[in-house]
Amino acid sequence: MTIYTPTYSSFPIPSTNLYTQLFRDHDKFDTASPAFIDNASGVTLTRKDVKDMTLSLAFGMRRVLGAKRGDVVMVFSPNSLSWPVVAFSIFAAGLCMTPANTAYTPSELAHQLKDSGAYYIFVHPALLPVVVETLTHLGASPAEIKKRVVIMALKREVEAPTAEVDAGGWIQLEALLNKGSLEREEPFDGAQAEETVTLCYSSGTTGLSKGVMTMHRNLNSQILATCLSFPLYAKKDAVIGVLPFYHIYGLALLVLFPFSVGVPLVICPRFDLALFCSGIQKYKITAALVVPPIMLALINSPIPLKYDLSSLRIIMSGGAPLAKALGINLDKRLQSMGAKADIIQGYGLTETSPGVTMLRAEQAMSKMGSVGELAPNMVVRLVDDDGVDAKPGEPGELWVRGANVMKGYLNNPTATADAITPDGWFKTGDIAIRDDDGCFAIVDRKKELIKYKAFQVPPADLEAVLLMHPEVGDVGVIGIESEDRTTELPRAYIVPKSGYSSLPTQGEREKFALEIQKWIEGKVARHKYLRGGVVVIEAIPKSAAGKILRRQLRDLAKEEVRLQ
Ligand code: AMP
Repeated sequence: MTIYTPTYSSFPIPSTNLYTQLFRDHDKFDTASPAFIDNASGVTLTRKDVKDMTLSLAFGMRRVLGAKRGDVVMVFSPNSLSWPVVAFSIFAAGLCMTPANTAYTPSELAHQLKDSGAYYIFVHPALLPVVVETLTHLGASPAEIKKRVVIMALKREVEAPTAEVDAGGWIQLEALLNKGSLEREEPFDGAQAEETVTLCYSSGTTGLSKGVMTMHRNLNSQILATCLSFPLYAKKDAVIGVLPFYHIYGLALLVLFPFSVGVPLVICPRFDLALFCSGIQKYKITAALVVPPIMLALINSPIPLKYDLSSLRIIMSGGAPLAKALGINLDKRLQSMGAKADIIQGYGLTETSPGVTMLRAEQAMSKMGSVGELAPNMVVRLVDDDGVDAKPGEPGELWVRGANVMKGYLNNPTATADAITPDGWFKTGDIAIRDDDGCFAIVDRKKELIKYKAFQVPPADLEAVLLMHPEVGDVGVIGIESEDRTTELPRAYIVPKSGYSSLPTQGEREKFALEIQKWIEGKVARHKYLRGGVVVIEAIPKSAAGKILRRQLRDLAKEEVRLQ
């Protein structure tokens, strides 16, 4: 068996509450320095504010709300100043956080709410109607809804909560503050560090979204590994936070890591290119963590030309493949603006907290397109379909074992056993190649997951919704490459309930396909819309066991796109 090991030395991983790790060096940093800054308003929380507020809010969660150790709390909010405060308080109080995608419709949110077992929901005021509809649909009474929901906004970050929210008598975040303070965080020492601290949702290799049981130790490991592979320094660096905090990439690399090393984070509630660039200029941002579509915007839009981006020293892309040309073009554009940053790529998954590999800054130009070296405390294999080692230099499915690998999927031993072998190898479903220098490139994806601009689109989710349409008999969903080759787009193949022959002309089939494409909008989150089109087909290709043969659908799509 060929096992590839990292060049980084391994280090002991602290068996503590994640909160303990986050605040380990707190006293070494200037506690009056900014920890989190709202990019739009400039409102700032200092490191002292964060510490005081989190121990106080943790007290409020335990003693005022009545949450008990291990309880699951949902966070449903775009990036905001209160986000890290709520997250850190959940950790300090010994609770478990399940962050939800803010684009979710009530039925998508209901799936996560039920599956995770979350009772309390911290929600941004603008998303309150989605939560109320979800809970009502799940059978909660108005009184119960009022008990479970906390409006997630700090007085200093909103001028005033909207009149409606205020008048509704909802529990406000501020009302949980200043009622007392925990003397210290809940201990999770020794074996308890293997308890679940976050439940982000991922479909993994197949099926619907599942709760990924990320342990305190996993995130402690991620923080320390990032110190080696992506070093940032207090007083020297500042990070801009535009990736969604509810996704593990944003959570680990923006909410947790910079704070733990004394570096401020400038928070963007959503991606707005002008605000993003003005934030870089205003706060002399040195490190930006992005996804490929943001890089594309930086290259193609005239907006960045109006700003001074010369403070940037490193840009990291992750969450989806970064084409070599995109990296090179961004480098050129920055240089044309008098800026110079190392453009690197990381690779990871929700199930690996997320880091598996990262390119070193000094290799940025020579290895553009590569996802770099293996993270510390992790080992990998590259295997074929039978679990046999791929030959050196040849592609194989990447299996990973080590400190960042999740405990498993919540309440789903079957999916866990499918994903992790008895000897601890997590099967990523991604196909990789390793070069002679020990750097990896992701060359294909074996699993059915589609990624639209780094957002997960599990085909099974879309297939389940499409089958609810009264005229859909059968369906198979795959991803196709967008024309500009920067993302995948979900595409559905549909068999009409009344049979293919019931729509004898091309015109009728196209009309039906368009109807379906429109019908799905509003029923699923925007990133799941069928941007790759809908095609009416005679039968969905399936194996003898009834499994959709997606490879055949993908081949069909390639042919159709070629003929267009
Ligand atoms: P998620 O759990 O949402 O982070 O999705 C993880 C999946 O995103 C991986 O299994 C890959 O298929 C894909 N992915 C993440 N980073 C990269 C990357 N740098 N290059 C190629 N694919 C990536």
